[in-house]
Amino acid sequence: MHVSFVGAGPGDPELITVKGQRLLGEADVIIYAGSLVNPALLSLAKQGASIYNSASMTLDQVIEVMEKATERGQKTVRLHTGDPSIYGAIQEQMDALDKKNISYEVIPGVSSFLATAAALQREYTLPDVSQTVIITRLEGRTPVPEKEKLALLASHNATMCIFLSVHMIDSVMKELIDGGYHQDTPVAIVQKASWPDQKIFRGTVSTIGKIITDAKIDRTAMIVVGRCLDSQYALSRLYAPEFGHMYRDAK
Ligand code: SAH
Repeated sequence: MHVSFVGAGPGDPELITVKGQRLLGEADVIIYAGSLVNPALLSLAKQGASIYNSASMTLDQVIEVMEKATERGQKTVRLHTGDPSIYGAIQEQMDALDKKNISYEVIPGVSSFLATAAALQREYTLPDVSQTVIITRLEGRTPVPEKEKLALLASHNATMCIFLSVHMIDSVMKELIDGGYHQDTPVAIVQKASWPDQKIFRGTVSTIGKIITDAKIDRTAMIVVGRCLDSQYALSRLYAPEFGHMYRDAK
């Protein structure tokens, strides 16, 4: 492969995959998303590797670096925060590489919404509470399709993980309440999940806005909403004695 899109994980450098780590060590050229990828990962690069921070580059410049490396017979790693398939803007890069007949692969990563569940020590899919996780964002400069507006999604009362929106916390909570979440639905906000300076804030749909504004949290945070943050739920059937499955007979 000429180019490997690699999920860097949410921050903790030990949360990259074994495969991603190997490819990083082998790469001649590394282009990383400087705003969120932990720079500690760059210490895995081999000596002499060329390293670019994509924060100051345009799409065309990124593709040009990949193309030049490919012409020289070199391997490129494009390092994206979390998992590249979620708000990673990799489709446009893959489409541009297709046009130039440059081969590529995608190595998944631990997304920040999963590192957030780990930080909270909660399960998103609790029996009798919610069996659905909605990954979404509030509309910003990137438009959101009409049928995916937060208020509409909120009507399901499922577990929601809201990316890229903490700087608009009041609008997020207003839409959630308009959409049907009860005022006392629990909310947790994790900033920089898995980083040494990780912070956790808790409240409800009606109280979290002030908590987050007072704490001046306006970036790199995941908003989790739903009753899964409460402790009342039915026990999973998977480990119930009378519930048999492929690997265990019912008693
Ligand atoms: N591809 C990434 C998301 C990129 S969009 C992933 O899979 O996680 C950037 C948004 O992700 C941020 O605005 C924030 O909402 C979230 N995010 C990224 N890293 C985070 C972290 N360590 N803790 C909490 N939220 C994070």
